[in-house]
Amino acid sequence: MPNKPRVGIALFIASVAFLAPVLASAYLAWWESCATEKALSLNNAQDILRRSEETSSQFKDAAQRLTQADLPPCSPQDLKLMRQVDLGSSYMKAVGRVAHDTLLCTSQGVTNPVFLGKPDLVTEHGVSTYFQKNLAAQPSHPLDVIAVGGFAMIVDPNLAFDISTEGPDVELAVFVPSAPNHDLVAAQGQNFLSEWFEPIDPGSQSTILNNGCLVSRVRSAQWDLAVVVATPQSYIYRRVGRFAVFFIPIGVLCGAILCLSVSLLTRMHSSFPTMLRRALKDGSLYVLYQPVVELETRRVIGAEALVRWRSRSADMRPDYFIPQAEQCGMIQLITARVLELVARDLPRFLKIDPEFCVAVNFSAADLSDNRTVDAMEQFLRVSGARPENVEIEATERAFLQSPETAEILDALRAQGFSVAIDDFGTGYSSLSCLQSLSLDTLKIDRTFVETINTDGATSQVVLHIIEMAHSLHLEMVAEGVETEPQAHYLLNHGVRYAQGWHFGRPMDIGHLCEQIHVTAAYEEVACV
Ligand code: C2E
Ligand code: CA
Ligand code: CA
Repeated sequence: MPNKPRVGIALFIASVAFLAPVLASAYLAWWESCATEKALSLNNAQDILRRSEETSSQFKDAAQRLTQADLPPCSPQDLKLMRQVDLGSSYMKAVGRVAHDTLLCTSQGVTNPVFLGKPDLVTEHGVSTYFQKNLAAQPSHPLDVIAVGGFAMIVDPNLAFDISTEGPDVELAVFVPSAPNHDLVAAQGQNFLSEWFEPIDPGSQSTILNNGCLVSRVRSAQWDLAVVVATPQSYIYRRVGRFAVFFIPIGVLCGAILCLSVSLLTRMHSSFPTMLRRALKDGSLYVLYQPVVELETRRVIGAEALVRWRSRSADMRPDYFIPQAEQCGMIQLITARVLELVARDLPRFLKIDPEFCVAVNFSAADLSDNRTVDAMEQFLRVSGARPENVEIEATERAFLQSPETAEILDALRAQGFSVAIDDFGTGYSSLSCLQSLSLDTLKIDRTFVETINTDGATSQVVLHIIEMAHSLHLEMVAEGVETEPQAHYLLNHGVRYAQGWHFGRPMDIGHLCEQIHVTAAYEEVACV
């Protein structure tokens, strides 16, 4: 996959990995706040319903006792009994007798009839409620009178709401679900919406978010009573803030850990060793051959195998991946693959020219490992080539890497392979170093060939290198020959072989075979 989309995908995954826990923690804070507010609001509604139910239950007991006593209404005995009943009930302010919308007497001192007017609410069970009546006992504090069967209870409507809510804008209402308009028995607040009073099943409860309020409803199982508690949604937001302080840092921490893990995993997955292993498996590594010509005849007498890595976007240059492969200890896998490919191609070259020689680049690791000698034997078996058909190239640095290198080089030369020192002159190459190595060929680096026929300060270095090689009886291949004057100069100074764009760029096996044919034919014609 090209690098850009991969980086994009990795960034996307890392962002998701970071944001997901942060968003999850924000959602958790919201969810937790909703759950807490819902529980509080339902709790309040249940509390109010319990108080209302108990009031009703106390009134029922009172009415039963008074009915059973069957005393003349408002007689001293009746008043006495009413006072006893009143004392035993916690929610009723007083009990009394009613007839024709008139409160005749109460346990709390009403002795003269008080006309109540028309009832504000009459339920289908015959319960009449008169709201906000100023009774003699406490004229400044209006009370509700609830009457049924000639008996009345006087209640303080605020008693049901004597609970601690979160704030003054929490609205509370007790209503009669069976009444056609779901009339309110008691209420605190003015912004009720009619849909909140849609009756629910007896004994059930529900909480909904409606019109910016969290609305809890509970309905009594045995009384015709229901309660609504409406909490503004802003209370949830306030609570989210409090929960967020706790959850968000945890989310950010989890996000950071997850993001780090994802980026580590991505890096591991797209790390160089993983990519190289994949390339070795899927055949993305291949070789091109750069022709090596004999300068005098211009005949292609050999080629250098140069590895390439085919990627989807563009081929990767060995200058980029060879050093990395060396660094992570995987270069021998590349050498093995190049040898495998050259062993496959060599028979085609040898069919045209049995003397053809392919140069293969070896690294320090290859020359420090005894198994290379076995690998080269295997190479000869597989390719059917002779050792003279292969040249082993390595830089000076590779030659001097380890004490075993000299032995391995000797063994390879004993097998019949020729050995070339690559990029000569670019390191700390010296005559003494050349003398100490067992070599066959010296490859003059491109940087010196470039200076031929120029006035550059190093233009004379190539002559010294040539002299050095001559004195050591080394064969020479000049690299990076790009012009005819360069070729001419090198030939005139005793360099026999050359490679470079002037003769051919690295090419596939088909093109190289054509070039071998052409130059061979050209030479034959010249000889005739
Ligand atoms: P090198 O062994 O010195 O290979 C010669 C490099 O010079 C090649 O680059 C070739 O394409 C380039 N070249 C050839 N003629 C000319 C020319 O006239 N002008 C210019 N400007 N350049 C020219 P390439 O293929 O990119 O290889 C770069 C280096 O990668 C090689 O340098 C070699 O050190 C390494 N390499 C290539 N293939 C292998 C391999 O199979 N194994 C190992 N270990 N290293 C390899
Ligand atoms: Ca080389
Ligand atoms: Ca070279």
